[in-house]
Amino acid sequence: MKVTAIPAFRDNYVWALHDDQSAMLVDPGEAAPILAWLDSQHLNPVAILVTHHHDDHVGGIRELAARHELPVYGPAQENIPGRTHPVVGGETVDIRALGLRFQVLATPGHTLGHLCYVGHGALFCGDTLFSCGCGRLFEGTPAQMHTSLALIKALPMDTLVYCAHEYTLENIDFALELEPDNPALLRRLEEVRALSGKPSLPVSLSAELATNPFLRCEEARVIVAAARHFGTPLQPGLEAFAAVRRWRDER
Ligand code: ZN
Ligand code: FE
Repeated sequence: MKVTAIPAFRDNYVWALHDDQSAMLVDPGEAAPILAWLDSQHLNPVAILVTHHHDDHVGGIRELAARHELPVYGPAQENIPGRTHPVVGGETVDIRALGLRFQVLATPGHTLGHLCYVGHGALFCGDTLFSCGCGRLFEGTPAQMHTSLALIKALPMDTLVYCAHEYTLENIDFALELEPDNPALLRRLEEVRALSGKPSLPVSLSAELATNPFLRCEEARVIVAAARHFGTPLQPGLEAFAAVRRWRDER
């Protein structure tokens, strides 16, 4: 399985999984760059997976579906244009043309119906997890997002995380406020800078566990930094997570 990042808008990635004939697309927010890429690679789109209803993730579906007959998997509880296969989490999605199979995970927080797709050592997590960050809580509660991130933390450490946005550098900037001398974080900063604008994704879950403050709300350093910022003691886990999320929002 090959995975290609198709850049869209300013900082979105549409992930394309493909062989030399067929491609599956995750979160096609914009049709034009996808159609151009499919054309240049002589590939036929065979399926679409959608993580949540935001425009920058669904905006290209109608045009792709008008040109190609293909199933569109997406959250049942959200308004997804062109969706043919509503899913809620717990299902298995088979993409026969590519011989791929994904587990659907319910990960509410960024939106209430947000889904992630896991399979073949890859996690397509939309706007739930970013490298060194996590999605804003537009619809869900801190508790929902904390639980969703716990599901992700429990995946195999070598899982490759395919986030929907390139936010890594600004996220590292914030993460360093909490853990200025975390060696893994400093290494990740060097690594991403050296890419000079090329995608910093996918990233391994193990790297995220070592660097992402939203996955590190049990770590004394992170808790102490957030407690100091807000001038109030914080319990490890959910309380620390909620504080770190609020700090990031207010920044
Ligand atoms: Zn979103
Ligand atoms: Fe988004």
